[in-house]
Amino acid sequence: MELFADIIVDISCKKLDQTFQYRIPETLKSSLEPGNVVEIPFGRGNRMTKGYVLRITDYPSCPLEKMKWIEAVATDFAGTDSKLTALALWMRDYYGCTAVQALRTVLPFRQKAAVKEKRTVTLQVSHQEAQQKLELFRHKHQAARARLLEALLEDPMLPYEVVTGSLKITPSVLRALEQQKLISCEHKQVYRRPELLQNLGTSAQDRVILNYEQQEIVDAIESEWEEKEIASYLIHGVTGSGKTAVYMELIARTVARGKQAILLIPEISLTYQNVLRFYHRFGDRISVLHSRLSQAERYDQFERARQGDIDVMIGPRSALFTPFQKLGMIIVDEEHETSYKSEQVPRYHARETARKRAVLEGAKLVLGSATPSLEAYYEAQMGESRLFTLKERAAGGMLPEVITADMREELKAGNRSVFSRILTEKIGERLKRGEQVMLFLNRRGYAGFVSCRSCGHVMKCPHCDVSLSLHQGRRLVCHYCGYEEPAVGKCPTCGSPFIGGFKVGTQQVVELVQQAFPNARILRMDADTTKGKDGHAELLRAFAQRDADILVGTQMIVKGHDFPLVTLVGILAADLSLNMSDYEAAERTFQLLTQAAGRAGRGKMPGEVVIQTYEPEHYAVACAAAQDYDSFYEQEMRYRQLAGYPPLGDMMTIHCASEQEQQLGLAVTYLAKFVRQLAGRRGVTVIGPADETVSKVNDVYRKAMYLKHADFKVLTSVKNIVEQYVEMNEGFKDISVQFERR
Ligand code: ADP
Ligand code: ZN
Ligand code: ZN
Repeated sequence: MELFADIIVDISCKKLDQTFQYRIPETLKSSLEPGNVVEIPFGRGNRMTKGYVLRITDYPSCPLEKMKWIEAVATDFAGTDSKLTALALWMRDYYGCTAVQALRTVLPFRQKAAVKEKRTVTLQVSHQEAQQKLELFRHKHQAARARLLEALLEDPMLPYEVVTGSLKITPSVLRALEQQKLISCEHKQVYRRPELLQNLGTSAQDRVILNYEQQEIVDAIESEWEEKEIASYLIHGVTGSGKTAVYMELIARTVARGKQAILLIPEISLTYQNVLRFYHRFGDRISVLHSRLSQAERYDQFERARQGDIDVMIGPRSALFTPFQKLGMIIVDEEHETSYKSEQVPRYHARETARKRAVLEGAKLVLGSATPSLEAYYEAQMGESRLFTLKERAAGGMLPEVITADMREELKAGNRSVFSRILTEKIGERLKRGEQVMLFLNRRGYAGFVSCRSCGHVMKCPHCDVSLSLHQGRRLVCHYCGYEEPAVGKCPTCGSPFIGGFKVGTQQVVELVQQAFPNARILRMDADTTKGKDGHAELLRAFAQRDADILVGTQMIVKGHDFPLVTLVGILAADLSLNMSDYEAAERTFQLLTQAAGRAGRGKMPGEVVIQTYEPEHYAVACAAAQDYDSFYEQEMRYRQLAGYPPLGDMMTIHCASEQEQQLGLAVTYLAKFVRQLAGRRGVTVIGPADETVSKVNDVYRKAMYLKHADFKVLTSVKNIVEQYVEMNEGFKDISVQFERR
């Protein structure tokens, strides 16, 4: 029986985003598998091209005389199995990219990396015999041979480079001694090991005995392990509640069943200490991926997983695509983190994609967070996943006490500094007691919003309920719908002239703290001070070693390390992220404030947190101060419901970009008209078009449009029609149009 392969051609082009069928030659019939990369003749000129095998069938889709043959399996490519290919195709449909873009993401190491070899020279005879030979060589004045034997008598296995390098032994001498069976030269393929895993000590296991709450989670999952092949869980545990210990136990049980596990963690918490904990428990059976690995190192880690050389992969987003043969569990730690969303096409979310992979592989999915995303919590509420709660810190510490400082009151009292009086006083106390302080300047998503320092009023879009951004100091612009108004000189609510943008940066904060406390030793941590390879880790290490009293930083300081001596955390501008022009602003703010507050009092001493804000009554600030997730969730869901934002409604963004500003403007206007007609009939709400938050990048102009509907399928159907419209329309020749969920 003849077999045929449905193949996606490895050329990223919308028009080629379909399969082509090829005949499978007899020689490949038994070995070819979905996920393989093959060489195929393509197009009129039959140019050799690479393609991905999606499916093998015995049913030809066109007359055989018209069908071309597969030339060969591409040997310089790494294939993967059919489940990962299926995952890529799901990504294509779900995130609206081409199959090739999705396949390239799932199979990121297209070029097989050169194999790294370790060569050694070993002594093959007894010590005594070697000693006799050595005498003989010395007697015959064969200096090189003598030198080598001498060295081997000391260390019977030497690296080849040492032998040919510092010992200066030539290959001909080595050959001669090998013939005499005195030594042997061996080649061994070795996998490159990530730097984080090198020179890990073998200190005692710091294995903890799970407390009652932790054990309950493990038991609950265990009890339904066999009956439910696919299951999904959410662990809502306050910072320090011991989620990592639970992950370890769950991973151990997965491995005991002969399966493998992937643990996703945000890049920033991929620290030496964290990896060490896993290494102590699982030893050489773990590997890590991180952004500083070379292509070859990454390839080797994936290869180890494929070969069954490891059981556990730890890493950020891309570790999700580790080609384990029997994947049993995927854990997503800090699942609310924005770094799980890819900023490049395909703009996939690792949490959503992990859920899909878990379903395809029959694996368990475990999400964990101190501040779950609304999506994850909503799913748990709807019964799609099972919720567990850890309310107390595992090591016994108390949750910190939170004080809110109303900055409007400070201004009224004549204090125009960036520090409230209470924060200044508390910093002074800590310095006197020799304890440490973290000052967190919240600059996330800062897009130049305008607020009143007297009453806290924020200039907002009357249509979208997100804050307006100041452009060139003159215009206030909404980045959802394009609404504009002139900048104001006086607050429309209270008439105060103290209205404007917030301009303080970390460097300025450091200067101001230094002025107030000339003797304090201060470290600064932001994108500028952490540029070097290990800048980030080094700064944290210095602070942990008490090289400084105060650490000033951006969101980078919010997670990762435990600093037992930090007893005070100051949050300087809680509102900054509250007013970014995005429907998720409140959620991000609540998460940041809660996580930042969680840094205080991680040791034996109790901690305090001062939240400085112009909007203490805003629920995101108030709930973070009260450490009350449920109340935040309830109020935020009310807002999402009213405005139709996810997770209660679904949203699709149409990104349009071009170097030609005028053409872009024109095309987007036409597109909007077309989309509105389509949308109206389907009950889809259209917002925009408007400039994107960053409206011009590398001379490319960017505009966006948003579609809202309760059902994502309806949005997809609109997308499909819009795609055709764009493809057929000449006006979009030089314009890139991309679709993004949310
Ligand atoms: P999370 O991941 O929830 O922030 P961790 O797992 O990092 O919390 O645990 C915080 C601290 O508590 C760690 O120092 C850990 O060793 C300790 N810890 C965790 N579980 C226990 C336990 N059952 N008994 C004692 N200490 C524990
Ligand atoms: Zn005002
Ligand atoms: Zn608007």
